[in-house]
Amino acid sequence: MYNGSSITPFEKKIYLASPTMHEKERQYVKEAFDTNWMSTVGKNIDEAERLAAEKTGRQYAVALTTGTAGLHLAAKLAGISAGTRVFCSDLTFIATVNPISYEGGIPILIDAERTTWNMDPAALEKAFALYPDVKHVMIVNLYGTPCRYDELRAVCDRHGAVIIEDAAESFGAQYKGKAVGALGSLSVISFNGNKIITGTSGGMLLTDDAAFAEKARKWSTQSRDNAPWYQHSERGYNYRMSNMVAGVIRGQMDSLDAHIAAKKAIYDRYKEGLKDLPVTMNPFDATNSTPNFWLSCMTVDPEAMCSQTRDDCHPTYIKEHGKSCPTEILETLLSFNVEGRPLWKPMHMQPLFAENAFVAADEPVDEDLFRRGLCLPSDINMTAEQQETVIAIIRHCFD
Ligand SMILES: *Cc1c(COP(=O)(O)O)cnc(C)c1O
Repeated sequence: MYNGSSITPFEKKIYLASPTMHEKERQYVKEAFDTNWMSTVGKNIDEAERLAAEKTGRQYAVALTTGTAGLHLAAKLAGISAGTRVFCSDLTFIATVNPISYEGGIPILIDAERTTWNMDPAALEKAFALYPDVKHVMIVNLYGTPCRYDELRAVCDRHGAVIIEDAAESFGAQYKGKAVGALGSLSVISFNGNKIITGTSGGMLLTDDAAFAEKARKWSTQSRDNAPWYQHSERGYNYRMSNMVAGVIRGQMDSLDAHIAAKKAIYDRYKEGLKDLPVTMNPFDATNSTPNFWLSCMTVDPEAMCSQTRDDCHPTYIKEHGKSCPTEILETLLSFNVEGRPLWKPMHMQPLFAENAFVAADEPVDEDLFRRGLCLPSDINMTAEQQETVIAIIRHCFD
């Protein structure tokens, strides 16, 4: 591990991705306070929904407590129930998969492809050959990078399957002139504290189907029937967004483009600063898509990997001259008070999904990316100068 004397640890921690607030958020929250709209009803909610629908070009947006709640309602709306098999992205955060299980569905995990790190259309085709009856596909747009949607869509169309789009990390990204979040019949974005814009928490279900939107609204407020007393004929949830949270989101909407520009600058700086090292930045399809660059990631090239082992919860590595590995880089960054993270550990490698089927690409991708990959600090609050220091620290790992 590099501990050269010319660089000293940061006094204030450099984060992976922390909230970036502006004055508007404070104003809208204060307005909610001052007018006593301190519940799950109010102008902030209406406006946050309107803006989310407008920015993604969708007919309806339903404001919810979290993105996970949105994915749960989406799974239920799409008809996932006990025993339903669902094809699902394998390289993702667990919140993509859990909502399938909430309804008793059975996730079948699908490998990624190397050009976007999202679901591999060829592996999906393979999965339909193995499970021809599957009618639901849950597709993530990871780290702000759009999936190869048209190819995936074509496979799904051939098999009459509906797409649920997890756009939690990718609000603001574009695919062939369309917004990510407008690709699935049901799509979900998140306003969790580390996302491109945040409400401290929060999520939004997006759809063009009026019946879906109406159902989601009803289910998210305990499924009250229209009666003078509490009358219920369906199971419901307490998933509605708070007007306080919505105030923060409403304010942040104004800064979405600025946040994306800042994230892109971070990505470009890494790309330039690391270009002569044996590493590769997370890829995207520049012809057909514009990511929101939420997280900058890199993989260590295969020939430059030093020996690294990981059991269920602990990694080790052996330092080698001219080589490195995610474990060394992350431990070194941490010693300088910098937060990074391994790539999201693939779902088929999780003990929770040990019994679930996994359909690998012809040359498996996810395990390899997990072994060689890491998320770099991509915090908008990080200055360019601080980032240059982070880059210098990474460079020294390859000494
Ligand atoms: C953050 C995230 C979610 C869930 O969003 P929450 O608002 O935190 O519930 C879902 N999927 C992915 C890929 C995410 O990164």
